[in-house]
Amino acid sequence: MSLADITQDAVLKAIVEYDELGQDIFLDTYGFEPSHSYKLLHEGKEYDSKAICGVAHKYAHGDLLPASKFSGGAATVAKKLQKLGFEVKSTRNPNWAWDELVLACDLVARNGWKGIDATKPEVINLSELLQHLPLHPESERAPTFRNPNGVGRKTHDIATAHPDHTGARTNGGQLDREVLQAFLEDPERMHAAAKGIREGVLSGELAELSAFEEEEPDEEISAPEGRLLIRKHYARERNRKLRMQKIDQTRAQGLPIACEACGFDFGRTYGARGSNYIEVHHIVPLHHIGESRTRLQDLALMCANCHRMIHVSKPWLTVEQLRTLIEKQRQFQE
Ligand SMILES: [Zn+2]
Ligand SMILES: [Zn+2]
Repeated sequence: MSLADITQDAVLKAIVEYDELGQDIFLDTYGFEPSHSYKLLHEGKEYDSKAICGVAHKYAHGDLLPASKFSGGAATVAKKLQKLGFEVKSTRNPNWAWDELVLACDLVARNGWKGIDATKPEVINLSELLQHLPLHPESERAPTFRNPNGVGRKTHDIATAHPDHTGARTNGGQLDREVLQAFLEDPERMHAAAKGIREGVLSGELAELSAFEEEEPDEEISAPEGRLLIRKHYARERNRKLRMQKIDQTRAQGLPIACEACGFDFGRTYGARGSNYIEVHHIVPLHHIGESRTRLQDLALMCANCHRMIHVSKPWLTVEQLRTLIEKQRQFQE
């Protein structure tokens, strides 16, 4: 007896019954609470997603799936209904992501660390920009997602978290304070990162990358510039055409196709199988990555191990730093 057993047809039957009984009686009859995270949308109406699923089980298998026997939410009810072809809509907004806070913090900093009200054009612009970021799927956004009121409130949260702020603080989250801290430590870098994100969104480049998520660590963000610019970094490195051009150019210069940090040469170790293989690392600092197209001189040839070591923890190393580290280790072992 589980969610897995319900069918599209059974859900449609539960919807019919819900319409006949009305929300209150439907919920009472079957012992469910109103859904506070996801609503099912059907023909312009909203339904309590969990209750519908529980009752759909009755239509599919003859017995109700009681509220206590399963949990509602993104991973369960919402996912199942979407799989069956239904539309679901979150009734609560997702927490602000690091990248979103970078943009908000950038705005507050430029306003002398004061909050900005919802009616101001810069808040309205930011609200629009945030709605275009490929960070939160549509189904997880409530109708109020990053609207000017919410954005204005967030600027006040950030402003009142600033160490120079005297007076009451509004209730911002831990992540607000971490992003604020990153701004206080290195304002130039963070302003450049905000600019990079904005430009990436406006040019459409970031939106195209929304599918590139497989390498992203979910919780930990490995650079203060945020997830979107990291995504862009990896996308540029995965560009086959650029990589081949870089290899051709290196050959034409009579240089070996070898790792610029450790000297590893795939062709020498693996013969013909490895002779055309090398990874490229994009050497432009993340916060400047928004500004231009990739030039071949921005790419460094890297073996897979060294490339991984550059990105394995924060802060990312430069190729030069990694080379120095390798040399030090070698001396140490001699
Ligand atoms: Zn290497
Ligand atoms: Zn890289």
